[in-house]
Amino acid sequence: MGTMNLAPPTAPGNARPAPGKVWPTPGKVWLVGAGPGDPDLLTLRAARLLMQAEVVVHDGLVDPRVLAMAPPSARLVSVAKRRSRHTMAQEAINDLLVAEARAGRQVIRLKGGDPFVFGRGGEELEACLAAQVPCEVVPGVSAALGAAAAAQIPLTHRAAASAVTFVAGQCRGLAEQDWTGLAGPGRTLVIYMGLNNAGAIAAKLAADGLAGDTPVAVIENACRPEMRTLRGDLAGLAALVHDSGVTGPALIVIGAVAAGHDIGALASELSLENVF
Ligand code: SAH
Repeated sequence: MGTMNLAPPTAPGNARPAPGKVWPTPGKVWLVGAGPGDPDLLTLRAARLLMQAEVVVHDGLVDPRVLAMAPPSARLVSVAKRRSRHTMAQEAINDLLVAEARAGRQVIRLKGGDPFVFGRGGEELEACLAAQVPCEVVPGVSAALGAAAAAQIPLTHRAAASAVTFVAGQCRGLAEQDWTGLAGPGRTLVIYMGLNNAGAIAAKLAADGLAGDTPVAVIENACRPEMRTLRGDLAGLAALVHDSGVTGPALIVIGAVAAGHDIGALASELSLENVF
């Protein structure tokens, strides 16, 4: 691999100063997606940045194998969050990124999956830009994409699903969220952060009219050696999560595609041939 160009961003659409202006600081924040686990799923750009990093500010979800790619000289700063117990408040993380960049450093802000999918990347980008700190975003394989690929669950399928939706299933605000129409025939719903709330999620979807026998898959620790895929149906979701002792990061996939390999047969059984 060649040397990474740490000069101002060249990727179209990434933040840059107005024409004729220069950024006031030589430092920079890179919001980098670390993917779902397996280092092979990093983008080349993420891998190059990581291998040259001087400071890496990372979440708890970032796989240790990915962190191990940083050089021994790199300073690793964990800002791991736990559910309802933030080790470091978002504002403090924003301040840290800005301060490190203002000190002239190239700051690799490493986030599980993709920085802009349930990762607060938007808030960190805004904080950098408000402080006139240059920031570039490097996409990552989001957990839904990595998990679906690893579990061989096609999120869309001509015979079974023409739409896919990602939602956050954590407790706060769940009741207020309107999920009507997001799950059902011809659709796939992927729920991030839904594990601790599986029963309430199943009840919410059932109340919206989703059939109790709608296929469900729970994918735990996707793209890691300890990955597990559990299958069941909506009515049994809470029991499935509980009885299987799912504790690692996990996604819930709801819809015909979650049933297993013979999606086409299932779809015709459910009269879904004419979805397209
Ligand atoms: N930015 C991340 C998501 C952060 S939210 C991304 O794009 O993937 C954290 C949630 O992501 C977890 O609660 C879990 O639902 C999901 N997740 C992250 N890594 C995962 C993995 N390896 N396997 C299964 N789910 C994962």
